Amino acid sequence: MNDGKAAILLLKGVQELPLSIQHGYMDAGYDFVPIYQQLFALKAHSVIAYNKRGEGEWAGYDEHFALTCVRKHSYRYNSYDKKNQSLKYVRSKECAPLAKDSLCQKVYKVRIQTDLRRYTAPARGSEK
Ligand SMILES: [Zn+2]
Repeated sequence: MNDGKAAILLLKGVQELPLSIQHGYMDAGYDFVPIYQQLFALKAHSVIAYNKRGEGEWAGYDEHFALTCVRKHSYRYNSYDKKNQSLKYVRSKECAPLAKDSLCQKVYKVRIQTDLRRYTAPARGSEK
């Protein structure tokens, strides 16, 4: 059996047990949307290596799916808002001195349900 399918069955089994998990740490061989969905259903965070599978670049975003500003600086992951299930990103340090410049907004948030695979908490590419 494929590892990804086995993981989904395992996670469904965990759901039936009187225990909880907070995180699912997996390698890129487990990078499948149903695994993220199953972890989300368990109220656990996904920490799964991203498998590009020949996907092209995402215009306006960096390689970790963080928004980039007009000057091509990536927004930095700041924190996870548990209540709203959203990631908070802040403007890059390079753009901070340009605080009055309306082209670089200070903060942006994205709900993880926008794309459970790309938006994990902590955010992809962050030190956390
Ligand atoms: Zn900027």
